[in-house]
Amino acid sequence: MKAAVLYELNKPVVVEDIEMEGPKEGEIVVKVAATGVCHSCYHAVTGLLSVPLPAVLGDEGSGVVQEVGKGVSLVKPGDHVVLSWVPSCGHCIYCTQGYPNICLKARSNKHGLLFDGTTRFKKNGKPIHHFAWVASFAEYSVIPQESAIPIDKEIPLDKAALIGCSVTTGVCAATNTAQVHPGSSVVVFGAGGIGLNVIQGAVIAGAEKIIAVDLLDSKLEMARKFGATHTINAKASDPIDEIKSLTDGLGADYAFEAIGTRVTYEQTVRAIRNRGKAIWIGAPPLEPLSLDAGLVFWGEKTVMGSNYGSARPRYDMPRLLALYRSGKLKLDELVTRTYRLEDVNKAFDDMLSGKVARGLIRF
Ligand code: ZN
Repeated sequence: MKAAVLYELNKPVVVEDIEMEGPKEGEIVVKVAATGVCHSCYHAVTGLLSVPLPAVLGDEGSGVVQEVGKGVSLVKPGDHVVLSWVPSCGHCIYCTQGYPNICLKARSNKHGLLFDGTTRFKKNGKPIHHFAWVASFAEYSVIPQESAIPIDKEIPLDKAALIGCSVTTGVCAATNTAQVHPGSSVVVFGAGGIGLNVIQGAVIAGAEKIIAVDLLDSKLEMARKFGATHTINAKASDPIDEIKSLTDGLGADYAFEAIGTRVTYEQTVRAIRNRGKAIWIGAPPLEPLSLDAGLVFWGEKTVMGSNYGSARPRYDMPRLLALYRSGKLKLDELVTRTYRLEDVNKAFDDMLSGKVARGLIRF
């Protein structure tokens, strides 16, 4: 079967035939229908997110359950599923508190391997790792049953793929992590795949003012389509001054960072009013931050990390798809371009140049 494999950092991904073993206990085989082209995958290419190489990439996908291993009870062959990159155990301290997104069991596992410490992908007898549990840049993938979230068969699988990462990460950062309240003001730094979904989440939560900040006018135009009421091009003016002037000099109730740079991480804290919340979603920058602690202390500000949008995939993913069905969540508009698996490197290039909101690979 065909898969997109990363052999070396900062080199093109190789699309080739590899071997796949059947599922072991608790695992399933999914025939992948579609997979989004995500910045997190690209972070694996550059090494910002570490995964042992070689690895099949892909962390945002959907498909149909093809085969189940011993002891599988959560899905059966023929089920349509969205793939979740946190196969939560359901009974660790975080799962039981309602935070399966930071499940201890899923996190304690070695990157790139399944729960039994081995891989199901091989090439010439040598193991190939699974990126982010899901490894959806492949015609088929073997995943833990906990990574498969069953969905209604009427939902188009290509649209459902986006629920696997960017939509859930962005929308739930607003609704779950930050708990944006009706009538509030929201700033979103970065209007890419995640940022646009934070904007949608803020609209769903009833925010009154939604300010998008980016360096590209094309992205700001997209932001307006997804519900931004104001846009700021940070190349043209100082975003903090602009945000203050739009919020009675106080700053916004919430500021989301959806890029992953030191500057924007720091800006979120200055962009919010006292008692406001700064929410960090973008992959954390490697350089240390330089923050004025007094801003947080005197103003009683809150800084929060948002990992997978604090989502509970089994509850939130079907909920998001219900919002799509009732016209309250935009998925069709997110997919600006579709590709074949063979064109994955071109899809990365388009994403980096800001040409697409979301590229989607269809099988
Ligand atoms: Zn758990």
